[in-house]
Amino acid sequence: MRLGIDLGGTKTEIAALEGTREVLRRRVATPRDYDGTVAVLRQLVLESGVDAPVGIGIPGTETADGLVKNANSTWLNGRPLRADLESALERRVRLANDANCFALSEATDGAGAGARVVFGVIAGTGVGGGVVVDGKVIGGAHGVGGEWGHIPLPAMTDAERADSRRCYCGKRDCLETWASGPALSAELERLTGRKMTMEEIATSNGAQEQALMARHADRLARGLATVVNILDPDVIVLGGGLSNIARLYEELPPLVEKYGFTLGGPPRIVKNRHGDSSGVRGAAWLWPES
Ligand SMILES: [Zn+2]
Repeated sequence: MRLGIDLGGTKTEIAALEGTREVLRRRVATPRDYDGTVAVLRQLVLESGVDAPVGIGIPGTETADGLVKNANSTWLNGRPLRADLESALERRVRLANDANCFALSEATDGAGAGARVVFGVIAGTGVGGGVVVDGKVIGGAHGVGGEWGHIPLPAMTDAERADSRRCYCGKRDCLETWASGPALSAELERLTGRKMTMEEIATSNGAQEQALMARHADRLARGLATVVNILDPDVIVLGGGLSNIARLYEELPPLVEKYGFTLGGPPRIVKNRHGDSSGVRGAAWLWPES
């Protein structure tokens, strides 16, 4: 059996896997304070009745000193979450970034199963990514491996330079400021005054919406070409709200090929298999079966 927890900003979910099959799944609201979060995680694990180490996907990363950083659930930042949970639960705990859990889930038994090198992309409210090689997450020396959302938008056009954007991380023109759902909605509203979600823009027949979606695909492709030139993944799996935009699976591969370095063919870009469940499933895959 394996135990995984997806610790989200608003909901927390636990799942137990037996092989690839889910034998337990529960979802509760995430407390908005540190002690409450630790207490809820402890309760979920104990009530599962499963005696196994715990993998947890968090909306941030863990530093070499064992402290949480970059979490948008800010009450986790600077806290030794893994050590506190290990003493509360008297068992071993592993933490991983939620985008890494998504990539691990899809690489293990999802849309990237069987591929050696998988790049998982989540784009919706934010933009993140994860790298899995031979079934293992490549978290990196500083825990920022795969942090695709904070690469600057490559090969910016004059119009994009004139529209330079500041990211919450302190840098400018991170992909997240160009490719997230809110970024797309804000751009449309500035141009037209119309308020629409990413999904509404993607399915609209309006000329300006269509032109914006074409720019959106081009920007995504420039970002993905950067990843392809370094990692050349066997498959790129899309997740989050972005993955529901059907046209991207046709438009992106030739664009990435155009911006990449002599690829000799379009990369494989596919939709995720497990959807929102990939967070909790990937967390469970952080440990071998016990
Ligand atoms: Zn940034």
